[in-house]
Amino acid sequence: MKTALFIVATPIGNLGDITLRALETLRAADTIACEDTRHARRLLDRHGIRADLCAVHAHNEQAAAERLIGLLAAGKSVALISDAGTPAVSDPGARVVAAVRRAGFAVTPLPGPNAAIAALSAAGLDGPFYFAGFLPAKVGARRTAIDALKGIAATLAFYEAPHRVEATVADLAARLEPAREIVIARELTKLFEEIVRLPLPDAPAWLAADENRRRGEFVLLVSAPPPREGIDAEAERILTLLLAELPVKPATTLASEITGLSKNDLYRRALALKG
Ligand code: SAM
Repeated sequence: MKTALFIVATPIGNLGDITLRALETLRAADTIACEDTRHARRLLDRHGIRADLCAVHAHNEQAAAERLIGLLAAGKSVALISDAGTPAVSDPGARVVAAVRRAGFAVTPLPGPNAAIAALSAAGLDGPFYFAGFLPAKVGARRTAIDALKGIAATLAFYEAPHRVEATVADLAARLEPAREIVIARELTKLFEEIVRLPLPDAPAWLAADENRRRGEFVLLVSAPPPREGIDAEAERILTLLLAELPVKPATTLASEITGLSKNDLYRRALALKG
C-alpha cells in the first residue's frame, strides 16, 4: 500500500454500509487514527482488523497530526476514520488533513456513508444544496445563523441532536418563508429510520405529536426559497451591488442590461431592497 493518509468513511448506523475498499484499506493500514478508540475497536473487531489505533479528537488534532506525519515519514500507511460517516464532515479531521498536506504527503479519500447526502438522496428535493452542519446551540446565535441563510437559493442541510431538534425546527419554521418545505430524516439506515416531507410551518406540530419523532439522530433539509417573480438569485446579487453605488433608476437600467430581465420587475425589486 502506498504511503498516504486514507480518509475512510464508515457506517452511520447500518454496519453493512462499509465499502470493500474501506475494509481493504483498514486491513492494510499500519495505524488507524480514530475519534474514540473503544468505538473504533467495535467496528474493527467485527472485521478482524488489528491495526494500532491513535486517537484524534477536537482537542488534540494538532498533536495527533504531528504524530501521523511522523508515521508517514517513516513510510507507514495511515487511515483516518471518525465515529460515524465521513471524517472531517461535522467531525474532526480537517486540521489533520491540512497538516498532512502541508507536510507534503498524499491524502486519499475513500467515499462512503454521509448522513446529509443519504438524506438528500431520499428527500426528492431538486437543485443545489448548502450544507450548514450544526447550528449554534445558543438561541440568539442560532437565530442569527438562520437569518444569515435566508437568502441562499438552495436547499439548506442541517445536522441536529435529539435534545435540540424541537427548538431548532421551531426557529426554522418561525424565521424562514412559510412556502418552504422541510424533510426530517431520522435514524437513517437504522431500525427506526423515518423520513418525512412537510410544509415547514407544520413541522413543530408534527414533532410535538409523538415523542418517538424526537428520538435519534437527525438531518433536517429545508427546500430552497420560492423564486421571486422573475428575479433569480444572481440577478438579485447584481442589483444589490449596483444599488450600493447608484440611484434606483440607473441601477435598474444597468441590471436589466446585464441580466436581460424585465426593467419593471427589477425596478419593483430595487424599491423593495431600498426599503
Ligand atoms: N461525519 C458524519 C457524516 O458524515 O454524516 C457526521 C457526524 S456528526 C458528529 C453527527 C450528526 O450527523 C448527528 O448529530 C446527526 O445530525 C447526523 N447523523 C449521523 N448519523 C445519522 C443517522 N443515522 N441518521 C440521521 N442523522 C445522522
